[in-house]
Amino acid sequence: MKVVIIGGVAAGTKVGAKLKRENPQDEVVIYTKGSDISYAGCGLPYYIGGTIEEEEELIVNTPKKFSALTGVQVHTNSEVVSVDKLAKTIVVNAEEKIEVSYDKLVIASGAESFVPPVEGTSLQGVFKVRTPKDAIDTRKYIDERGCKRAVVIGGGFIGLEVAENLVQKGLSVTVVDMASQLMPNIFDKEMADYVRRELQKKGVRIMTSTELKGISGTVVATGVETGAGMIPADIVMMAVGIRPATQFLNDTGIEMFKGTILTDQYHRTNVEDIYAVGDCALVTNRITGERQWSAMGSTANIAGRQLALNLSGEQSEYAGCLGTGVVHLFEGLNGARTGLTEEQAAAAGFDVVSVVSVINDKAHYYPDADSFIVKMIADKASHRLLGIQVIGSGAVDKMADIAVTGISMKAKVEDFITMDFAYAPPFSTAIHPFAAACGILLNKMEGKFDSFTPAEYAAGKAKDYRMIDAHPAPTIAGVEWFDLLHSEEAAKKYNKDEKLLLVCAKGKRGYLIQNRLRSYGFTNVKVLEGGKYFNVLKKTIPAGKKLPATEIKRVKGLGCLQDKRYDNIFNVRVITKNGKITTKEHHIVAEAAEQFGSGEITMTTRLTLEIQGVPYENIEPLIAFLNENGLETGGTGSLVRPVVSCKGTTCQYGLIDTFGISEKIHERFYKGYHDVTLPHKFKIAVGGCPNNCVKPNLNDLGIIGQRMPMFDLSKCRGCKNCQVVNNCPVHATSLENGKLYVDTQACNDCGRCANKCPFGVSAEYQNGYKIYIGGRWGKKVAHGQALDKLFTSEEEVLDTVERAILLFRNEGITGERFADTVNRLGFEYVQDKLLHAQIDKDTILKKVVKGGATC
Ligand SMILES: Cc1cc2nc3c(=O)[nH]c(=O)nc-3n(C[C@H](O)[C@H](O)[C@H](O)COP(=O)(O)OP(=O)(O)OC[C@H]3O[C@@H](n4cnc5c(N)ncnc54)[C@H](O)[C@@H]3O)c2cc1C
Ligand code: SF4
Ligand code: SF4
Ligand code: SF4
Repeated sequence: MKVVIIGGVAAGTKVGAKLKRENPQDEVVIYTKGSDISYAGCGLPYYIGGTIEEEEELIVNTPKKFSALTGVQVHTNSEVVSVDKLAKTIVVNAEEKIEVSYDKLVIASGAESFVPPVEGTSLQGVFKVRTPKDAIDTRKYIDERGCKRAVVIGGGFIGLEVAENLVQKGLSVTVVDMASQLMPNIFDKEMADYVRRELQKKGVRIMTSTELKGISGTVVATGVETGAGMIPADIVMMAVGIRPATQFLNDTGIEMFKGTILTDQYHRTNVEDIYAVGDCALVTNRITGERQWSAMGSTANIAGRQLALNLSGEQSEYAGCLGTGVVHLFEGLNGARTGLTEEQAAAAGFDVVSVVSVINDKAHYYPDADSFIVKMIADKASHRLLGIQVIGSGAVDKMADIAVTGISMKAKVEDFITMDFAYAPPFSTAIHPFAAACGILLNKMEGKFDSFTPAEYAAGKAKDYRMIDAHPAPTIAGVEWFDLLHSEEAAKKYNKDEKLLLVCAKGKRGYLIQNRLRSYGFTNVKVLEGGKYFNVLKKTIPAGKKLPATEIKRVKGLGCLQDKRYDNIFNVRVITKNGKITTKEHHIVAEAAEQFGSGEITMTTRLTLEIQGVPYENIEPLIAFLNENGLETGGTGSLVRPVVSCKGTTCQYGLIDTFGISEKIHERFYKGYHDVTLPHKFKIAVGGCPNNCVKPNLNDLGIIGQRMPMFDLSKCRGCKNCQVVNNCPVHATSLENGKLYVDTQACNDCGRCANKCPFGVSAEYQNGYKIYIGGRWGKKVAHGQALDKLFTSEEEVLDTVERAILLFRNEGITGERFADTVNRLGFEYVQDKLLHAQIDKDTILKKVVKGGATC
């Protein structure tokens, strides 16, 4: 018998080799288009990344070696261009038109990368990943051009493997996919979203629901045009999918669906003596019996082997595929799946139940122990296991393979629970993780475990539930903690019919607390599957607690700023006057944070303290507690903000009493002007010397301590080693013609040279203050400008501060910062007003002003 095989990679070589082993007398001939056969397509991404170092390692067998080993004749660079089913011949190569006859014809022509019909795909730097040449060319291009930025089009298994390898090579990578999730049809969305978050943590930028519009560049690719904008790229990897390589069969009458060959369970096509296996053929799904395209090396090999047996005379039926797959995404991130996803199972008509569990992958004390995230899908009525998806750093394939075995044998979830799986600490857990996951699913099916799946939670099903922190110690900011060790006491805080959502680390402790609460008569307690480990926790909105905007604004005026992650959690600002508080006040703030907040305190850049994670209902008691102890909250709105001061009073360079003056500013303008609305916030800072540690000149008004030397140059003796010059940090002084020379423009009046001259040249100086106006920091930076005057008394300074505030209130426009007012009115005009003009305080204070501060 002469068997001709079209295509010589996974399926074709498997059919040929096995058939020759079964029936050595058969003549088996492979015609394949490329120059390589039997290559490791699955290893291509790892060649790009460098894990597989040498090109040769990608080639499993050369044609010569393969022929010698198997007895199969191989013709490479031989493209089959047509098939004549009546004459039972094929034609090889369009030019030479070599006619070859067959008794049996096996089509194993596989698939080709799909290249979307957009502009720019033929530019240099755009690569596919299907053949060894693709991978070799890609690596060479990256190395030769020193590529830094890559865009991978397609977020399936292959796209992500390529992304990982490009990251390994040091490129910054963006993955673009048209679908709304990564790995569609492979993982359900919540599992894919977990992978997405993990990949993002590794620095991969992921853009889903993003359409590819084209590749930009003239000769070489320079970027990718997408529905979400242009992404610059030095290299573009196409991994959008594959298309069956079957165009040459179009006139043969071989039945196909979208170009993929229909076969029966013996891999026969509808045409006698013509068979098809591998990526060019459709198989059936073992669970649903529906046709499925299983473009996998595993399926190609299994089907190829079986076809060989059938060709040699056996009658071996292909039982169907399960879509099993396993992928290494990054160090510590493997994924595996088999069977139906939840979506596919529902579409196939099953009454689906699923659970996501996070379980130990081996004995928890063993050094590299980690977790498996397992999603199990079953049929509610029959308990039949339908599918599994697993993510973890360990042997996820083991979990998938157990499921493959069970699903193939139509096992029920409970069948696995008592199976005698292997256990030793380095490998597994005493109750095998697979059995543990089955136990959780069974509990759920039997109503012993009542939960929200992560998908339900993400869809907002728990929005009326009050979240309870079920960790061993308080962990979720702003969420009430349930102490399992004192559960009776802890349970008293809640009504027995209240909707409670227990969230622990992975789900287990939540289950224990649920059990306990149920035994106390609670009726509405749910557990969040996968806990904090798997879910992105959203705002907790206890029923009826969503706050109106007016209330949020009101408490903001009290210094309570909403934590953007939650609707009813706030960070409360405690005013520290000038950044200096006593130990007693420290204790009070700490106690307040512990009693009313999450126990955390942050320092703002303007030296106020923020008590974190204060639930709305704790705001009033917290403020009352602070007030009782002489502390206050605030520091928001279109008002004079708390003053910021450096430690100049105690600093070796400090020239003024910064604490003293800032305390006066606090009393007179923060407190005294507390009800005086301004066009915007007004920030003041006091620095002890021109070193500017608190950046006074980047405030609406800044005060800087000064010491202005009064040089008496007549006393200068022109010493070789001048101490005035030596001590000047800004080199404003020098010796010119043997005498001291002072560049007064450069001198910033730091006073370091004061008294440094042994002959009294710098013995006299004047202490004072410089005032800067119109500075600001933030998204629009402006440097304040100094008023042309050395202020010599605190009173003068305070008076000028007041004039500035009043001028701003009187002449500023709602929404503009003082910097804008100064710019609009002109510095000279403002300076004149601050230094000389009469200001009618009473009239200005009576004026109605609308504030424009948003933060
Ligand atoms: C990057 C990558 C990673 C992968 N990773 C995995 C994995 O981890 N696990 C897994 O199971 N699978 C994986 N796969 C899929 C696996 O490689 C394919 O399923 C498998 O190669 C299919 O084998 P095949 O023989 O059917 O087709 P192919 O490998 O496509 O081979 C078909 C051959 O036929 C030739 N041919 C086509 N038309 C003609 C013609 N008219 N005349 C003559 N010759 C023709 C082609 O040139 C080709 O050489 C991966 C694939 C890629 C590209
Ligand atoms: S600005 Fe001057 S006085 Fe203030 S802390 Fe800095 S060095 Fe010390
Ligand atoms: S300023 Fe004083 S120290 Fe400097 S050169 Fe003159 S006399 Fe000498
Ligand atoms: S005051 Fe400061 S900056 Fe000016 S000359 Fe003396 S040391 Fe130099």
